[in-house]
Amino acid sequence: MLRGHFLLTSGRHSDRYIEKFRLLEQPRALDDTARAMIGKAAGKQVDVVLGAATGGILLAGAVSRQLGRRTMFTERIAGQMALRRGFQLQPGEKVLIVEDIVSTGGSISELVDIVHHARAEVALAVCLVDRSATGLDLGVPTAALLRLPIESWLPADCPLCATGEPITERGRTGKASS
Ligand SMILES: [Zn+2]
Repeated sequence: MLRGHFLLTSGRHSDRYIEKFRLLEQPRALDDTARAMIGKAAGKQVDVVLGAATGGILLAGAVSRQLGRRTMFTERIAGQMALRRGFQLQPGEKVLIVEDIVSTGGSISELVDIVHHARAEVALAVCLVDRSATGLDLGVPTAALLRLPIESWLPADCPLCATGEPITERGRTGKASS
């Protein structure tokens, strides 16, 4: 959990940012996370584990390895979320969607659409951290390992902007997730 003045991909500003890759880069922590996600899906049939690039690749891989099920991930090309690389869902397959940090549920909604478009079913959509203000409502079963609503503002309403604090530089792409 970082503190500063962050520009989120939504365009909103926040004073806190979760750098998920500090968790995902640790194999034991990643495996523990995967185990907890599988626990949320206890009693449900799962044929395929689906994540979204980039963090979702690591999560889906860790979960599928423990479950012994296929794993696949979506990629966003020109703004459009899609299954590539020959990944195919079969009609009727039960899909466990895994996501890392969720703020509005927009990305999970796109994954749900991809599953339904293939006439497969969402067994559960589970995320690492649910940052949404009111909780996720996606029309499919959902779960979160951690519920942690984080306040964010439109730039015009941002109290940090009001004090003249510059946006925190974050290296790499400079892009904050969600
Ligand atoms: Zn700001």
